Amino acid sequence: MRSVSIFGATGSVGEQTFDLLMRAGGPAAFDTVALTGGSNVMRLAEMARALRADIAVCADDSQLPALRTALSGTGIEVASGAGAIADAADRPADWVMSAIVGAAGLVPGLRALRHGRTLALANKESLVTAGTLLMQTAASHGARILPVDSEHSAIFQALNNEDIACVERIILTASGGALRDWPLASLATATVREAMAHPNWAMGQRITIDSASMFNKALEVIETREFFGVDPDQIEVILHPESLIHSMVGFRDGAIMAHMGAPDMRHSIGYALNWPTRAALPVARLDLAQVATLTFRAPDLARYPALRLCRDVMATRGLAGAAFNAAKELALDHFLAGGIGFMQMAGVVEDTLSQVSAELCQGNAVLTLEDILGMDHLARVRAGEVARRMTGSR
Ligand code: NAD
Ligand code: MG
Repeated sequence: MRSVSIFGATGSVGEQTFDLLMRAGGPAAFDTVALTGGSNVMRLAEMARALRADIAVCADDSQLPALRTALSGTGIEVASGAGAIADAADRPADWVMSAIVGAAGLVPGLRALRHGRTLALANKESLVTAGTLLMQTAASHGARILPVDSEHSAIFQALNNEDIACVERIILTASGGALRDWPLASLATATVREAMAHPNWAMGQRITIDSASMFNKALEVIETREFFGVDPDQIEVILHPESLIHSMVGFRDGAIMAHMGAPDMRHSIGYALNWPTRAALPVARLDLAQVATLTFRAPDLARYPALRLCRDVMATRGLAGAAFNAAKELALDHFLAGGIGFMQMAGVVEDTLSQVSAELCQGNAVLTLEDILGMDHLARVRAGEVARRMTGSR
């Protein structure tokens, strides 16, 4: 029986992974090792019971007593804290879903790779923060990373094992997010609720707002560079409001392979779960006559400064990805808390990058985890200072 673990089980991707495991037979079909969550321990306990997991771990230490009570008498172990989550990644599991949000997903993913596991990677922040380290750790331990981000799953499928040297360009599609049709001048006053109204995808709060600002697409451009090893100038972004083409690969003979489907993450999660075969999945089938039209347009960089910033990050490399992601996470925290405006998030990230520029160690050397976590910390401190200075100046 295949053994599985889910990191970030109680989130949007985690829930959909759980759904697919249950539909495929649950505890009769999978030996579930570890499930982790943040503070929603009631849901975590329910999932652990349903899948008969070996251990359930919550990030929030204050919730450990509640988790223990909820699982008493089941024989399921419980633990809490970031250290316990990372330790859970040392437990043997054939397939590990990395679906924690943010740089907090990096260490558990890295630990799983060190044991040669197959890592289904939804946590794009770990590739942005530590791409070279992650890819080299996978290679040196015989581990495999399968992309779960819908664009990267689409690219992986469109590539179909062809030689990457035959690829001329990769075209990432972007919905444009909730505010794509707003006048540019009104974006400054967009609220969290408005930025959360994604037209096509139902996702966690942070990635939904990152979709509206296109910080999500900026992370995905870097993720593409790190995962597929193509040059930055081979990566294009196109606005595709219908979100039915999930990305495209253009080959040197001019052919373009596009991956299409309903906007449902259970496709890319299920693909990674069943790879290298394909299983029937409970996703809606496209009725192309009904769809009738697919539209595309070039993204406006004035509206999406994140798409410009990610180019600088890829030119610098080194610790720039770690700084970019950390500053973005902090800027988002301040937007969520109401301190800064929607368009000021990019300003926080840009200022932070320039403040830490002397410490970015340019180039593509493999940096240590300590270097990366050090930059993650420094960029959060600097970004916090920048954001506090901006507060109230909207
Ligand atoms: P989410 O916010 O819905 O869930 C995140 C999960 O991580 C939850 O279980 C939460 O409790 C846990 N978590 C949060 N902070 C934590 C911390 N500090 N330590 C440990 N656990 C923590 O997020 P999501 O939308 O499911 O996204 C998860 C990841 O997948 C992100 O990296 C996101 O970019 C990526 N992704 C998501 C989607 C989607 O459709 N939701 C699509 C593509 C990629
Ligand atoms: Mg995506």
